[in-house]
Amino acid sequence: MNTSTDFKKFLPNANWINGHWITAESGASIEVTNPADGTIIGQVPNCGAAETGSAIDAARQAFEKYSHSDINTRVRLLRELHDGLMDQQEALARLLTAEQGKPLAEARGEIAIGAAYILWFAEEIRRTKGELIPSPTSDRRLMVTHHPVGVVAAITPWNFPSSMLARKLGPALAAGCTVVVKPASATPYSALAWGVLMEEVGFPPGVVNILTGSAAAIGSTIMSSPHVRKVTFTGSTAVGKQLIRQSADSVKKISMELGGNAPFLVFDDADLDAAVEGAMISKFRNMGQTCVCANRIYAQAGVHDAFVSKLSAAIEQLTLGPGSEPDVTQGPMIDMAAVEKVETLIGDALQQGGKVVVGGQRHKLGGTFFEPTLVTGVTERMQFATEEIFGPVAPVLRFDHEEEVVAAANRTEYGLAAYIYTQDMARIFRLNESLDYGLMGFNTGLITTVEAPFGGLKESGIGKEGGSQGLVDYLATKYVCIAGLG
Ligand code: ADP
Repeated sequence: MNTSTDFKKFLPNANWINGHWITAESGASIEVTNPADGTIIGQVPNCGAAETGSAIDAARQAFEKYSHSDINTRVRLLRELHDGLMDQQEALARLLTAEQGKPLAEARGEIAIGAAYILWFAEEIRRTKGELIPSPTSDRRLMVTHHPVGVVAAITPWNFPSSMLARKLGPALAAGCTVVVKPASATPYSALAWGVLMEEVGFPPGVVNILTGSAAAIGSTIMSSPHVRKVTFTGSTAVGKQLIRQSADSVKKISMELGGNAPFLVFDDADLDAAVEGAMISKFRNMGQTCVCANRIYAQAGVHDAFVSKLSAAIEQLTLGPGSEPDVTQGPMIDMAAVEKVETLIGDALQQGGKVVVGGQRHKLGGTFFEPTLVTGVTERMQFATEEIFGPVAPVLRFDHEEEVVAAANRTEYGLAAYIYTQDMARIFRLNESLDYGLMGFNTGLITTVEAPFGGLKESGIGKEGGSQGLVDYLATKYVCIAGLG
């Protein structure tokens, strides 16, 4: 591995369209700041409809050749991309920490899992087999074949700006699709860095195009284009719903990874130390800013007090600071709006009788640093029960019976992740059937892995990322009937 920590080469201050680094036609740009100290990292182009049109055209033209390229060629490009990412892991992690705020150890992990997604899909594309179906008559042959779906638009969020893109680029590029990428404006460099690496690896011009700028202008150009055949989005449920509506006019294929409201259930028979460890990972990783974060922690009456006391002791051990400093476990939150949201939720709970056991305030470091917080006495009437917190606050609710907690856990429009701590195997199978969640973690708080299909039910999304299922959405299936063979 290259040990250089210098990420200057990944700050292009330009967008990558058709193999060229360009600025916005208007000359406008967007400032990118470090959430740990407010310093300016750089400026990226503020592109709009015109540049998006050029990116879609470039992707269309590139599709003609790339969609017919040898699988061996695509696999080689993806493997080299994986190797490039891992070679530059340290610099890319530092860049990610600088613009997103997460601790370096988490940033290194994100780069590694992003690279692993690329490798996974390079392997998996070799196994997308078609079918030969027995024909009802002897003069015909029936086949099922798979083909790249076409130009893909990938819209990504700021909380995992590198790995969320990997989950989309990996299957798209393996399948033979070309891509227009629109990253979140808070964290554009982690996406533009992919362009720098792809150029080094030698991806043909137009196969991937990366645009920064106005979400509304870029988004509406993408959604109204009949040439974009698929949109893959990770972000809020509100924006996801808007994209689903906009996709109707040209009947695009869609994959949506949207919000969550994860229940975290701790039963009386749980291994409490393991439950605390899982809750800490699930709740406080990335300052609670993940869509699979534990959002409502339900502790059964028999272990409630012991669990709360162990959890509060673990929270006291967390260390806040700039993510670039060693031993820091919690970075800043992404922006002031995120801080204000958790303050509102805590205020609502306090008004209704909730109790702050640890934290509860902005941290003395200032800026967007917020104290990791534990609130007890939480009830179903509080906003904590229904709102996605997206911050470092652990609300604990008490429950008595399994049936009661299953009903409460399902009482949400979301259906992304659920976590359950119990030693009872029969209960594990019961809850697997009765909890309406696309991701189920029993006795663990961390379940994401490239081999498995990640994705939510209900209003948490459509489609899967990762696993063999992660390729399906990037493939168009054709049924082929060949007659007259008798
Ligand atoms: P968050 O910012 O909480 O991750 P958002 O859903 O607001 O969630 O943003 C996720 C991504 O969607 C970002 O890249 C953002 O710029 C983009 N986005 C926001 N609004 C739109 C829109 N109307 N059309 C297309 N993309 C959008």
